[in-house]
Amino acid sequence: MAYRGRFAPSPTGPLHFGSLVAALASWLDARAHDGTWLVRIEDIDPLREAPGATQRILDALAAHRLIPDEAPWLQSQRSGAYNAALTRLREAGRLYPCPCSRSELKTHGGQHPRHCREQPDWRQPEPFALRFPVEACNGHWYDRVLGEQPIRLEREKDDVVLRRKEGFYAYHLAVVVDDIAQGINQVVRGQDLADLTPTHLCLYEALEEAPPAYLHFPVVCNEKGQKLSKQAGASAIDAATAPRNISQALTALAHRPPPDLNGAPVDNQLEWAVSHWNPERLQRA
Ligand code: GLU
Repeated sequence: MAYRGRFAPSPTGPLHFGSLVAALASWLDARAHDGTWLVRIEDIDPLREAPGATQRILDALAAHRLIPDEAPWLQSQRSGAYNAALTRLREAGRLYPCPCSRSELKTHGGQHPRHCREQPDWRQPEPFALRFPVEACNGHWYDRVLGEQPIRLEREKDDVVLRRKEGFYAYHLAVVVDDIAQGINQVVRGQDLADLTPTHLCLYEALEEAPPAYLHFPVVCNEKGQKLSKQAGASAIDAATAPRNISQALTALAHRPPPDLNGAPVDNQLEWAVSHWNPERLQRA
């Protein structure tokens, strides 16, 4: 099967060093497999979106020669597909409406008391959230860096919200529906998302679709040990220093370029990295 991978940034801010590393890892893995590499903008949460971030991200990727093979998709334009998936889950008995407010959940120690799940009432008036019961999922999954992983969707955790009461679609739903629709069969992303993978696998199973292969690489942290993110104050990557940024991103992925390529033109570094790409090194990154 032809390799199809993607980089799926949320436009909550400009591309920073951590997201450059994520883009580069997925690009390198796709290129090293002669695959197709896509970019999907995960703009499903308008409250978290930064104005202009989508274009800034695409421009910054282009400045680092990370150019998608197909036109980028925007999740903000995909609500029809998300609704269709919710209908499918509902018909399969794998979805229920939950009108509980935050303050109601608080009276139950912040947890969902489950009455909505036991007696789903689809005739009640909106607003309600839509939840996906996760208990039916068990087993193991395999990660190309982490190895075999248990699917542990703990019983004490609440069922997953797939559409919020305010009407927004959840990341879990959108990422799975779009990875299916785009034919993504290789997901390369940071280890901060590894814990969410069992939920995604459960959704693939409920939608009767084959899941992709996964590779979760170690994420870049700041001096405080926090994952680099806009929230943790990571600054925008400076396209003017693209060659240096690529050398540093390759080093973060345990593929430090040889001295004569360190800081060399981006294309030369990328060419070297594609031919030397070895995900086993990520275990030591
Ligand atoms: N949009 C997610 C993020 O920026 C990544 C989604 C994914 O790669 O599955 O954290």
